[in-house]
Amino acid sequence: MNEGGVGGGVGSGVLSGPPDARAAWAAQAVPGPDVVAELAGLDRSQLSAEGRLDAIVAVERVQRWLAAMGHRLLAAHAGDPCRRDDLQQRFAVDELSCALAISRPVAESRVFEAHQLTGRLADTLARVESGAVSPYAARLVIEAVGGLTDQAAATVQAAVGPHLGTATPGQLRRRLRRAVLAADPDSAERSLGHSHTERRVACRESGPGMAELWALLPAEGAATVMAAINCLASVTSADDDRSLDQRRADALVDLGVTVLHDPAAPRHHGLRPAVSVTVALSTLLGHDDQPADLTGHGPIPASIARRLAADPSGTWRRLITDPAGQLLDYGTTTYRPPADLARHVLARDQTCTFPTCAQPAHRCDLDHLHPANPLDKSRGGATNPANLHPLCRAHHRAKHTGHWTIHRDQHTGHTTWTSKTGHTYTSIPPPLP
Ligand SMILES: [Zn+2]
Repeated sequence: MNEGGVGGGVGSGVLSGPPDARAAWAAQAVPGPDVVAELAGLDRSQLSAEGRLDAIVAVERVQRWLAAMGHRLLAAHAGDPCRRDDLQQRFAVDELSCALAISRPVAESRVFEAHQLTGRLADTLARVESGAVSPYAARLVIEAVGGLTDQAAATVQAAVGPHLGTATPGQLRRRLRRAVLAADPDSAERSLGHSHTERRVACRESGPGMAELWALLPAEGAATVMAAINCLASVTSADDDRSLDQRRADALVDLGVTVLHDPAAPRHHGLRPAVSVTVALSTLLGHDDQPADLTGHGPIPASIARRLAADPSGTWRRLITDPAGQLLDYGTTTYRPPADLARHVLARDQTCTFPTCAQPAHRCDLDHLHPANPLDKSRGGATNPANLHPLCRAHHRAKHTGHWTIHRDQHTGHTTWTSKTGHTYTSIPPPLP
């Protein structure tokens, strides 16, 4: 049934031959629609071990060809790389993040890669497109030439080009480092400055009830922090059976607690800094053991939640849900203090309500879905939980540029964003216990 439908050009497939011969042809042909059709029409159950390997190689080469096509489409979608800050570009990246369900930083880096490969690294992209070079190798080139001028980047590309398809990632990194230093001897000094701007602290889940706190610091900064932790951890007593490692871990946590209890610590939305722990009323009363939710971490075991909820130190902000998973309301029916309203909305939505944004709600603005009208309250949107949601600065601005319209379903809490291209994307807040 494939006969006659495909090919016609020089080098087209051998659609009627034995499967192994067809796979061998596909493995060395220039990737394109002919090879895709050949692979799709292949009876894989009839392949020998050698034929299967040829087919695997052919699939890989087609994927590279498609990856190159993806880069060209992405670069065209995002537009002129010299105007990265204008509203149109921001909208294009935001919508890309929704369409592919990736975060904005990932969408930005995909666009950056596409611009590099369709711009000054066009030769590398051509090698990917031919099936000879993997997208991963191309990414290593992009990273290596990051701080270089166009001319130096071209020199590096020419030096490593012939090896891109054959070197292992480790070999390629070494070749790239050497080529970068040869093309621009000052780059090591500058890259030290660049590393310094990359310093950061990250926290990630590590098994039930545990988390890893990780920091990339300047050497002297890391030494300072460790000296402070060692100093605090050196205090012990005869009845303290903790190991030195355990005392160090506790000392680091104590540093955080001290800051949260400082009366001068900055407030957000009128609330003093604290860590929110959301727990079901039934769990708090000991009727069941539903996992609770720790803001910035996610689910934690019920036993930990009960301990935190009972802690009087003020480190923890306790939020309680009813059997339907709805946050139990704060204020009264007649008067709702603004701080409590803010606390309610921030706890309910947890992050900016743009579908791919992870900005924590407490660092967001509280936006009126329907604008408030201070002169005529009957006509403007009300200041109540139904009409408020958190938006980070970037997405607050994006809302007001007219690129998006927003609808919040009051029953489900889902927020639907409709872009001016007509696509819709829905943001679903993480479930509360
Ligand atoms: Zn946002």
